[in-house]
Amino acid sequence: MHGTHPDPRRGPAPEAEQGRSARPAMIDPFGRNVSYLRVSVTDRCDFRCVYCMAENMAFLPKKDLLSLEELDRLCTVFIEKGVRKLRLTGGEPLVRKNILWLIRSLSRHLDSGALEELTLTTNGSQLPRYARDLYDCGVRRINVSLDTLDPQRFKAITRWGNLDQAMGGIDAAQQAGLAVKINAVALKGVNEDEIETLMQWAHGRGMDLTLIETMPLGDIDGDRTDQYLPLSVVRARLLDRWTLEDIPYKTGGPARYVQVKETGGRLGFITPLTHNFCESCNRVRITCTGTLYMCLGQDDAADLRAPLRMSEGNDALSAAIDEAISRKPKGHDFVIDRRFNKPAVARHMSVTGG
Ligand code: SAM
Repeated sequence: MHGTHPDPRRGPAPEAEQGRSARPAMIDPFGRNVSYLRVSVTDRCDFRCVYCMAENMAFLPKKDLLSLEELDRLCTVFIEKGVRKLRLTGGEPLVRKNILWLIRSLSRHLDSGALEELTLTTNGSQLPRYARDLYDCGVRRINVSLDTLDPQRFKAITRWGNLDQAMGGIDAAQQAGLAVKINAVALKGVNEDEIETLMQWAHGRGMDLTLIETMPLGDIDGDRTDQYLPLSVVRARLLDRWTLEDIPYKTGGPARYVQVKETGGRLGFITPLTHNFCESCNRVRITCTGTLYMCLGQDDAADLRAPLRMSEGNDALSAAIDEAISRKPKGHDFVIDRRFNKPAVARHMSVTGG
């Protein structure tokens, strides 16, 4: 059954197009259509990346989490309200117990054409176990986060991770037929000398590479100013050796892409600091406790768990979502500067999942 899902890279099926025009949309005060939902299914992770978490993180008590059934219901209401792309993230989404149940259940919205794409962001560690099942559930494209190809560096960045395991995950994903995009956070003095190597490696394996600027989210053990590497600098350095052609390619997220003439591959830049991308933001995020964040870089949020649990019907939930969308802010204003030694928002990236 799931083998017949349309390939999201080729665009929606005709019935999905019809569904889209017939369905209501969530339009924010700035006229942006909110059609992309990112769901952090757990705040837990099997890695402790230095820019993401402190080593001794306090995680949420299990009783505060939405059950998988509740997450399914919440996502379904968003899809009924116009969400076309759904990305599961975390924490590490594949460490949530029985996560496959949720993915399988959500895949019914791919079958119906209501959802264009179901995807996830992962560190790759659990992919040897899950890649085939993901494909069977209609997932066609995943993002794997990988900042280095050097085993020692990998250990230093992820603290608890292991490069071989992540590589095994990427192999398994490609073998299962999943298109893999590599996401790498560009870190000053850590992996900045490896960006070309990462790009050549990714393109050599038929994978896009997207570089991300480190964002000031949550207290970590170090100073973020030491890690921040503006991608404007990286791009200028790359131009010394590579031909970068701006292309209009879009995946629904914030990356701007270039085609690298010499490799034939695509390179994306996510630049929340040097060039924010808020004017085209079509995204909202929910945490594993059912809190809706209308902007990754602002504290304003709406509790959806109470209206979700208040009744079996979805009216209160739907009204709470509408009210929250009417408060989606124009944008974030991240600054990384020694004069401001507090993060822009207190929560870690693992709460909303990037
Ligand atoms: N565990 C999964 C993974 O590793 O992809 C999903 C969650 S992780 C929080 C999502 C992405 O956010 C990863 O690519 C990670 O590198 C990135 N990330 C985490 N903290 C960040 C920060 N402060 N600035 C920029 N990117 C960050």
